Amino acid sequence: MIRIAVANQKGGVGKTTTAINLATALAASGLRILLIDLDPQGNASTGLGITHAQRSLSSYELLTGQSTLEDAVVASPVPRLDIIPATVDLSGAEIELIEFEGRTHRLDKALEGTADVKWDVCLIDCPPSLGLLTVNALIAANAILVPLQTEFFALEGLSQLLQTVERIRARFNPELSIIGVALTMFDRRNNLSSQVADDVRACLGKIVFDTVIPRNVRLSEAPSHGIPALIYDHRCPGSEAYIALARELIGRLPRQAKAAA
Ligand code: ADP
Ligand code: MG
Repeated sequence: MIRIAVANQKGGVGKTTTAINLATALAASGLRILLIDLDPQGNASTGLGITHAQRSLSSYELLTGQSTLEDAVVASPVPRLDIIPATVDLSGAEIELIEFEGRTHRLDKALEGTADVKWDVCLIDCPPSLGLLTVNALIAANAILVPLQTEFFALEGLSQLLQTVERIRARFNPELSIIGVALTMFDRRNNLSSQVADDVRACLGKIVFDTVIPRNVRLSEAPSHGIPALIYDHRCPGSEAYIALARELIGRLPRQAKAAA
């Protein structure tokens, strides 16, 4: 199982939308996916229609050792896509975990064992901060995928994120790679969007995926129906873009995970 943290400490850049729809597109291509909702806002859980009753065991219980991975996993409406949901309890974890032994490695430890044979890819939807939750995700992960909103300040804050990745590589997880940067909310009617996309490519080079996710209202409507945009309207431009992004991502996966697709 390859573990990919979907991370960017900025809020509203498309992390959750990317996590949900990429997970769905990867599952549709035959991969078995585990999505971990690591944001106390629980948007990935809501977007996949996970009810509050189904969240009695969540990523909070998993990190604090009150639940096993198996017990916290819930099946999503998408075949081959399972999720560990989140609740607001998780907002306390940043503080509570400070008292815990191995506080930075809680998620990594929780994923040891049978997860490796049950799923091919694990996507971790990170909260909008570089706090202990995101650190847990980056230590548990093999790779990070960075959604970057195609707007004027796109690159602002990126150096901070990359520094965090460097620090985690140096101290805990030397194999942590950047599997790609995904440009999101691209508005083709807006010259600024194209210019920002060009600048980002000039700055970051080939780690930026060729696929660009357009601004598309279907992507923002789908969560209120509790289903991924890919199921809500699989032919809308947003869904098509996430299918293309999944294809590109599969091309970048280690051979072992790719073979399952
Ligand atoms: P994050 O998880 O980084 O905070 P979200 O994925 O929740 O970001 O996106 C923030 C908001 O923007 C949400 O309301 C979401 O529905 C909307 N959104 C995300 N991507 C797109 C897109 N490509 N087109 C239109 N709306 C989008
Ligand atoms: Mg989010």
